[in-house]
Amino acid sequence: MKCPVCNKGKLEKKKVKEYMFGIYLGEFPAEICNSCNESFIDSINMKKIEKIAKQKGIWGLEMKTKIARTGNSLAVRIPKRIVDFLNLKEGESAYIHPEENKLVVETVKNQ
Ligand SMILES: [Zn+2]
Repeated sequence: MKCPVCNKGKLEKKKVKEYMFGIYLGEFPAEICNSCNESFIDSINMKKIEKIAKQKGIWGLEMKTKIARTGNSLAVRIPKRIVDFLNLKEGESAYIHPEENKLVVETVKNQ
């Protein structure tokens, strides 16, 4: 079968390691394009991935938030589910830096 993305490569059946938010979910059968490397996973395996992500408590952890003003700075509201998932506490320190168009917040847990 021809790749629907690049229209050049052929799709080959392989197993791919799936990650969500850096957390390993397992290996799943997929069809990989031998030209552009795009992977295609069927709906049955997408359901399996969803189920595992739900079991790990990470399904739906990507969410929309608001940027608010506090004095001269801006503050990003962190939704409760992410607070609980990362066990964040008010007053803790964190490092932030831009990464292309992303804002990366690294928590600093006391050792
Ligand atoms: Zn392709």
